[in-house]
Amino acid sequence: MKERLYLFDTTLRDGAQTNGVDFTLADKVAIAQMLDAFGLDYIEGGYPGANPTDTQLFSEPRKLDARFTAFGMTRRPGRSLSNDPGIAALLEAEADAICFVAKAWDYHVRVALETTPEENLASIRDSVRAAKARGREVLVDCEHFFDGYKASADYALACARAAYEEGARWVVLCDTNGGTLPHEVEAIVGEVAKKIPGDHIGIHAHNDTEQAVANSLAAVRAGARQIQGTINGLGERCGNANLVSIIPTLKLKPEFAEKFEIGISDAKLKNLAHLSHTLDEMLNRAPDRHAPYVGISAFATKAGIHASAIVKEPATYEHVDPETVGNRRRLLVSDQSGRSNLLAELERIGIAVEKEDPRLVRLLDEVKEREALGYAYEAADASFELLARRTLGAVPDYFNVERFDVNVEQRYNAVGKRVTVSMAVVKVKVGNETLISAAEGDGPVHALDLALRKDLGKYQQYIEGLDLTDYRVRILNAGTEAVTRVLIESQDETGERWTTVGVSSNIIDASFQALMDSIVYKLVRSGAPA
Ligand SMILES: [Zn+2]
Repeated sequence: MKERLYLFDTTLRDGAQTNGVDFTLADKVAIAQMLDAFGLDYIEGGYPGANPTDTQLFSEPRKLDARFTAFGMTRRPGRSLSNDPGIAALLEAEADAICFVAKAWDYHVRVALETTPEENLASIRDSVRAAKARGREVLVDCEHFFDGYKASADYALACARAAYEEGARWVVLCDTNGGTLPHEVEAIVGEVAKKIPGDHIGIHAHNDTEQAVANSLAAVRAGARQIQGTINGLGERCGNANLVSIIPTLKLKPEFAEKFEIGISDAKLKNLAHLSHTLDEMLNRAPDRHAPYVGISAFATKAGIHASAIVKEPATYEHVDPETVGNRRRLLVSDQSGRSNLLAELERIGIAVEKEDPRLVRLLDEVKEREALGYAYEAADASFELLARRTLGAVPDYFNVERFDVNVEQRYNAVGKRVTVSMAVVKVKVGNETLISAAEGDGPVHALDLALRKDLGKYQQYIEGLDLTDYRVRILNAGTEAVTRVLIESQDETGERWTTVGVSSNIIDASFQALMDSIVYKLVRSGAPA
């Protein structure tokens, strides 16, 4: 019999504190549904009563399997329950569970709450009792628990026990400042677990020493059975414990997998990379290429000798099978790669070629030459695929851009304000048809992109779902002159993502190359007729 670990997601509450993140009501509803479908046990929605969006969120009708949790303060010191509007709003909210945040560090009780240790304990007990009386499952987040424990173990424990003894389902130990180290977490949680059963203890770790994941796992080792965290480690400062790293670790590493089970099936785990990228997408952020388990580079290998070994026996170089988390192996093609690497990559993208085919040498030379000019094929998988298909003679000339013109103008507008306007005109030949499109954009590249994709005649239907999701520019010193490298990330209606590259001494020209590659790649993938 395996022990059950419970996962508590606070993306919508603590994650919403991330610098630059501002969830709308619609975002929150969509994210809650996505988290629920993934199989998380608890979803913390926010602060009903304290924040208008969250008040609205809790009053929306919803159908979730996860326990939808409201967050708020315990009763204010010196007030009665009936005289505390914050508690009243929290108890009113349509929530399955209520998570109270309570002080657990005597120093904070004195200085921040300006009350006595006894009154703080009474506030915890009263709040738990009131929420239970309303039929809610109760969690108590013991704020600054680890720092509080180091300052006064007795008082920190007294707070935790007050919550537990009053009937809180979970007493959550919070490393609010995020400065506690894994060996300290393991030791302190071990002590707490002598007084409170581990299946009532949760861990809430912040990432200020980059060990929120390690701290969460250390707490589990010491007895805690609930883990709080966020998707992609969102959260203020350096973020919260990243559930996207914790979940596969619990599922795939024998130390945890043999002892514990979680609410996420193997089949659902395969959606992990998609879940992580979808949240980035909603936040309009480029996914972290180097994110453990789910990043594009998480299973990417560059050097030639490693690559040939990986093809023979993947387990020799991969800590888990990338498919289990919805990722895939990537053998990077670059000037360092050898023929075996190249062959393996061609095979993966479905290009059949004989080992002794002379075109293979030509392709390898071409990659090396172009990388010397500044092209980065290991980052631009789609441009590599096009280069390979072109060298092997398999990319149709779908259309031809005969000319384009990009214009940037700064002038006074009708109300006398200085504005900068960009406009692009593109002349494209598709078959026997000549098409001219013009568009205005936020900048010259944006205008060019809009004009280019406005009308591709018979190919327009294939690129309707194409979206540019990221645009990165770098100035390089290739050879004697400075050149600009542009990387463009695109996505289509199926959620497939790809990256293309362009290099030139002119940024518009570099961008044009990358835009063209993206469109042509999409046409190839869609099987558009020549
Ligand atoms: Zn927190």
